[in-house]
Amino acid sequence: MTDEKKNSLEGRPFMGVMFDCCKVYVRVYQNKEGTHYRGRCPRCLRQITFVVGDAGDKNRFWRAK
Ligand SMILES: [Zn+2]
Repeated sequence: MTDEKKNSLEGRPFMGVMFDCCKVYVRVYQNKEGTHYRGRCPRCLRQITFVVGDAGDKNRFWRAK
């Protein structure tokens, strides 16, 4: 069951992202390498990627336009 623990999002840094396309707010988690935040709009399935360390990283909240 170690794999299950490794794949868990628990403990991973995340940001809140507002998808302007559908006016929905989701949490976007870092990938396992810790280099990007990856997320997807739950309604239109648009994908977004943020580089870790960008200015928005400090805000913990971004808008995806
Ligand atoms: Zn959308």
